[in-house]
Amino acid sequence: MPDDAQGAADSGQDSGQGSGQLDRRAFVTQAVQAACAGVPFLILGGVIRIPAEASAQGDEKSAGPASTRTFGMGVDVAKCIGCGRCVAACKEENDVPRDAHHFNTWVERYVIHTNQEVTVDSPNGGIEGFPPTVPEREIERSFFVPKLCNHCAKPPCVQVCPVGATFSTRDGAVLVDDDYCIGCRYCIQACPYGARWFHPVKRVAQKCTFCYHRITNGQLPACVEVCPTGARVFGEVEPGATPLSRFVRMNEVQVLKPSMNTKPKVYYANLDGEVR
Ligand code: SF4
Ligand code: SF4
Repeated sequence: MPDDAQGAADSGQDSGQGSGQLDRRAFVTQAVQAACAGVPFLILGGVIRIPAEASAQGDEKSAGPASTRTFGMGVDVAKCIGCGRCVAACKEENDVPRDAHHFNTWVERYVIHTNQEVTVDSPNGGIEGFPPTVPEREIERSFFVPKLCNHCAKPPCVQVCPVGATFSTRDGAVLVDDDYCIGCRYCIQACPYGARWFHPVKRVAQKCTFCYHRITNGQLPACVEVCPTGARVFGEVEPGATPLSRFVRMNEVQVLKPSMNTKPKVYYANLDGEVR
């Protein structure tokens, strides 16, 4: 994925802004370090307040009443034209830094050359489209693959978070609570899809939220709303008359890296065997 999705570039100390939040975060960091060193939390003279449901369930807390729905997304690779509007809309909607290093969603171009070499690129996440880089006569086939957090049902990012800051909602989204994130970046390392990044100002882990603020108000995620070809489909996974369940029924869908057993909820149609 584009540049430092794995968070390698964003090292350094907290900048000092938002002192109340950072004091608490610093305290939690110390407590976690102490725990790793075998020191009970109480010795530090405080109590770590881990989000209640997250600590009780291990990997799930609710942002509202119990839900019977599970959200997911469908991506039809055959329909994506690599225009990058989804990337731009996501940055605008979710206040993602406008640089070439941070993305909640991005688009990759796969080129299979006539000599069977495979190249993958994503210039600036594909936000400005894809200028040709290979002469037509040397291309056997090429296609675009939009990527984002897969909102896995068995998310390793949630499992590794030491303070329960990253969690699964009851309706299937995987989110990060900025107030609890201590910026340890374990989740960034744990995600096999490179879907997480480290916010250079907030100093917390970030990722696609399925535009949770929109979908819980009956709206579509911004990337789905702007896609001019309908390459992205959003809805409830459960069998029924939802756009996503129709998409899953009518296409032979696959998920990325199925061998990781993360149970992704982003379903791809017309996915080429070369896609990683
Ligand atoms: Fe977590 Fe990565 Fe799965 Fe998203 S794609 S839920 S960040 S493991
Ligand atoms: Fe592909 Fe739609 Fe994104 Fe354009 S807006 S790059 S067609 S998914």
